[in-house]
Amino acid sequence: MKKLYDHFLIKHGERVHLKDKDADYAAGLKNKEEAAERLAKNRLKMAELQRRLFAEGKQSLLIVLQAMDAGGKDGTIRHVMKGINPQGCRVTNFRAPTSEERAHDFLWRAHKAAPAKGMIGIFNRSHYEDVLVVRVHDMVPKKVWSKRYNMINDFEAHLADHGTRIVKFFLHISKDEQKARFQERIDRPDKRWKVNPQDFEERKYWDDYMKAFEDVLGKCSTKQAPWFVISSDRKWFRNLAISEILVRTLEEMDPQFPRADFDPKTLVIPD
Ligand code: ATP
Ligand code: MG
Repeated sequence: MKKLYDHFLIKHGERVHLKDKDADYAAGLKNKEEAAERLAKNRLKMAELQRRLFAEGKQSLLIVLQAMDAGGKDGTIRHVMKGINPQGCRVTNFRAPTSEERAHDFLWRAHKAAPAKGMIGIFNRSHYEDVLVVRVHDMVPKKVWSKRYNMINDFEAHLADHGTRIVKFFLHISKDEQKARFQERIDRPDKRWKVNPQDFEERKYWDDYMKAFEDVLGKCSTKQAPWFVISSDRKWFRNLAISEILVRTLEEMDPQFPRADFDPKTLVIPD
């Protein structure tokens, strides 16, 4: 479905105002049930396309997920990627850098985790943290982080030139929705393990994060590595929208089963 792809795509250089983007948008769909059938179909398509991608072994797909805390990165991976062959997929979480990571340039760990040919790589957070949390908390001077947008674009162009298709999703939730999800984590015993009081502190910097995200989206949405701002207050819609974009992306990549380099008619299996 072309519509959702284009609706959420950020154009290069676009001035993004997240306040004007509706986190609760659902493209006229009313509920989970309406979306479920389409999501199920997309999952089947993705599974088939991934089979081809893996067999072909010539290109790879990198999916970048960024969001505020409780934005739904984990849920997206769980629901959208269900049905993907685990052998052809790798999820990498980007936490505060280890001492080894800190001893290298900021892109080192991202490059190491980039998907090999035939693979789908998922970044749960990513190299963008180095212009998000790092910027919001002044972990390095502005003179350092402000150069990173171009570095990121060059890095992603480099990956793209080597056969990696990149799609980046900002899961856009409202501040109220974040509060509701935090509350649910406190209230529900099966979600309580996710409570991290540091996340509540981080919420105080909401506006600073929005500004940092707006810069990321405007500066780093490129033809070879576009950003999509996904309305994510409704989880079922978020899942559907992302699956639509992934199916379209994989279809454009058009992976093919490799042709046999032998003649199947003459090849004989010995007894
Ligand atoms: P969940 O949303 O399920 O809690 P998470 O992605 O928040 O998962 P955590 O281990 O709770 O995972 O948090 C990772 C933390 O690491 C985040 O606060 C993030 O901002 C921080 N982080 C990631 N990359 C960097 C970086 N380059 N520099 C500093 N902090 C970073
Ligand atoms: Mg967290």
